[in-house]
Amino acid sequence: MINQKVLVVTGASRGIGAEIAYQAALAGYYVVVNYNKSKESAEKVCERIKADGGDCVCIKADVSDETQVNSFYEQVMELCGRVDVLVNNAGISSFSLFTDISSELWDKTFDVNVKGQFLVTRAFLPSMIHRKEGRIINISSVWGICGSSCEVHYSASKAAIIGMTKALAKELGPSGICVNCVAPGVIDTDMNKALSPDDMKALADETPLCRIGTSFDVAKTVLFLASDDASFITGQVISPNGGFVI
Ligand code: NAP
Repeated sequence: MINQKVLVVTGASRGIGAEIAYQAALAGYYVVVNYNKSKESAEKVCERIKADGGDCVCIKADVSDETQVNSFYEQVMELCGRVDVLVNNAGISSFSLFTDISSELWDKTFDVNVKGQFLVTRAFLPSMIHRKEGRIINISSVWGICGSSCEVHYSASKAAIIGMTKALAKELGPSGICVNCVAPGVIDTDMNKALSPDDMKALADETPLCRIGTSFDVAKTVLFLASDDASFITGQVISPNGGFVI
């Protein structure tokens, strides 16, 4: 069993999730690095953590697959015995005019972004309720707050996460569990690699703090919500976005 606090982060093989995992390890957590397709990349995240004195394990699971999620939970509990912080970060996005969104794309987006958070939270929650403590941090997006043209499916999925966070916070408060949402602005990761350098510059120019966000900006917000300093914060949406959406 693990003697440190345990933080689980889904979709941690790349981008924001990988940085959350790294910063959590630096902050002293034992980190569970979940991935789906990018095994090598997840292993590199673990190597980076271990090289800097942290401790972690990487475990594969597709968050949209109930059987894999339940097996993921069993593996984590067998190894760690408990989970203190669950970060629901795994997500996918794509661009499409609304009239071109296929039912398959709509379902896939909701399966990963919304059902994935539901399945993972449902699997891990009973052990938190049993201990009467825990933190759940759901990654949404500014587009879930204000909507994005040509990303209606993505925006709707990210808005659903905000609704799920608020309702669950009310249900779990009496059990001593805080549930919050982080809604990042535009962050420099693979998710935005379809945008040209000019597009990224235009987005930075539209941002009052005059830059695109980094995974580090998001990771530090997540770790604040996981910390003792945030013990009276629940049901909230915190948006590291440089003032892009106010
Ligand atoms: P990214 O670089 O594309 O990485 C996505 C991560 O999610 C990968 O680790 C991927 O793992 C994982 N993932 C995807 N489908 C999965 C599944 N079915 N099961 C398990 N893991 C899965 O994206 P990112 O920018 O870091 O985004 C992370 C989160 O932040 C997402 O929820 C995204 O919506 C949100 N967000 C991003 C931005 C932004 O501008 N980048 C802004 C606001 C919110 P594998 O590669 O191993 O499959």
